[in-house]
Amino acid sequence: MAKVVIIGAGGVGTVVALKCAMNHDVFSEIVLASRTRSKCDAVAAKVGQPWFTTDTVDADDVEQVVALFERHKPDLVINVALPYQDLTIMDACLRAGVNYLDTANYEPKDEAHFEYSWQWAYGFDPGVSGVFTAYAAKHWFSAMETLDIVDCNAGNHGKAFATNFNPEINIREITQNGRYYQDGKWITTGPLEIHKDLTYPNIGPRDSYLMYHEELESLVQNFPTIRRARFWMTFGQEYLTHLRVIQDIGMARIDPIEYQGMQIVPLQFLKAVLPNPQELGANYHGETSIGCRIAGKGKNGEQLTYYIYNNCSHEEAYKETGMQAVSYTTGVPAMIGAMMFLTGKWNKPGVHNVEEFDPDPFMAQLPLQGLPWHEVVNADLEL
Ligand code: NDP
Repeated sequence: MAKVVIIGAGGVGTVVALKCAMNHDVFSEIVLASRTRSKCDAVAAKVGQPWFTTDTVDADDVEQVVALFERHKPDLVINVALPYQDLTIMDACLRAGVNYLDTANYEPKDEAHFEYSWQWAYGFDPGVSGVFTAYAAKHWFSAMETLDIVDCNAGNHGKAFATNFNPEINIREITQNGRYYQDGKWITTGPLEIHKDLTYPNIGPRDSYLMYHEELESLVQNFPTIRRARFWMTFGQEYLTHLRVIQDIGMARIDPIEYQGMQIVPLQFLKAVLPNPQELGANYHGETSIGCRIAGKGKNGEQLTYYIYNNCSHEEAYKETGMQAVSYTTGVPAMIGAMMFLTGKWNKPGVHNVEEFDPDPFMAQLPLQGLPWHEVVNADLEL
C-alpha cells in the first residue's frame, strides 16, 4: 500500500496515471498534479475513484513542489513532466524526503543537450531497453560485446507532420548530433548522418538512424564488456523533409527572439501550432517495436546473437488508455518501475539506473501490463 504523486498530465502522464490506477493493490493512493489542473481532472474523471485525486504545481519552482509533497506525503514521485523539471523536482525530493523516478534525463532549457551527470548526482530512469539488456546479461551472456537498441515507430497517424511526444523535446532530441560508443570512446556524428535499413518483426524493413540516447551512457558503464553501443530510431522521408524545412527556416531555434515587443522562442511557438501528440491516438494505425540486438559470448563462451523486443499496437494502446503507443510504451514501464520500488523489489539507497536491479520481476510484469516481449536467438542482427 503506497501513495504516489505523478507530476505531468500529458501523453505519458495520462498512461502512467491510468496504469497505476489499474494496479490499485500497489498504488493505494494516487495524486496527479500538473501545471494545468483541468488535464489532471479529466484523467481523474476517467478513473472515478476517491483514492485518485488531483493538484496543481509549477514544477519549475522547488518551493511549490516541496509544498505539494508536504500536502500529500507521498512514498514516491513519478516525474513525467518535461526533462527541464528533473532537477527542481529532485531538489524538492531531497528536502521533503521523497523517492524519485523519471523517464528522461535532465536538459537545460537554453541548450539542446542531455546527459546523466546532472542527475547521477541525485534518481533513476526506467526504460525497457535497460531492463532488456540486464535480462540478456543475466540469462544469456557471459560477455556482451555489441549492443544496438532499435526503436521503430511504424505507425501512421494520417497527419503531414506531427511528433509523438512533446514536439519541443522531440525536435531538440532529433536535431542534435548523433553519438555512439566504440572501444572506450564516444564518437560524434552529424545529426542523423548514419542510417541503414533494419528489419523489424511484423513490420519489415525501415530506414533507421543512429542517434544519441541517454541509456547508452549508463549501459556501457554498468556492462563494461560492451565495446560498441548504438541507438537507432526509424523516421519516414516525409517526417525528415518537414524537419529539415523547420530547421532551415529557423523554427527549431531555442533562443528567444523579439516579436511584436514580446520575447518568443520559435520552437515553443511551433509546438503551439503543431498537432497535440495526445490527440493523435484516435486515427493511429500500426505498431511500434523496441528492442535490443546484442552479440557476444554466451554463458559457455560460445558466440551468440540475441534479439529481445516488444511490439505495441497504436490501436490497442488507444483502446485501453486513449493515448498512442509511444506514450504507452513510455508510461507502462514507468509504472512498473514504480511498482518494483514500492513492492521492495528494487530498492536501495542512492541514484540508480534500471539495469542495476534484478530484471526478472520487471520482465514478469511487462506482459501482464500490456507489453509482451519476445526473444530471437542466433539470428542475423543486421548490424
Ligand atoms: P507532454 O508535453 O504531453 O506533457 C507534459 C506534461 O508536463 C503536461 O501535462 C505539462 O503541463 C506538464 N508540465 C510541463 N511543464 C510543467 C511545469 N513546469 N510544472 C508542472 N507541469 C508541467 O509530454 P509527454 O507526456 O509526451 O512526455 C512527458 C515526459 O516523458 C517527457 O519528459 C519526455 O521527454 C518523456 N518521454 C520519454 C520517452 C522515453 O522513451 N523514455 C518517450 C516519450 C516521452 P501543461 O499541460 O500545463 O503544459
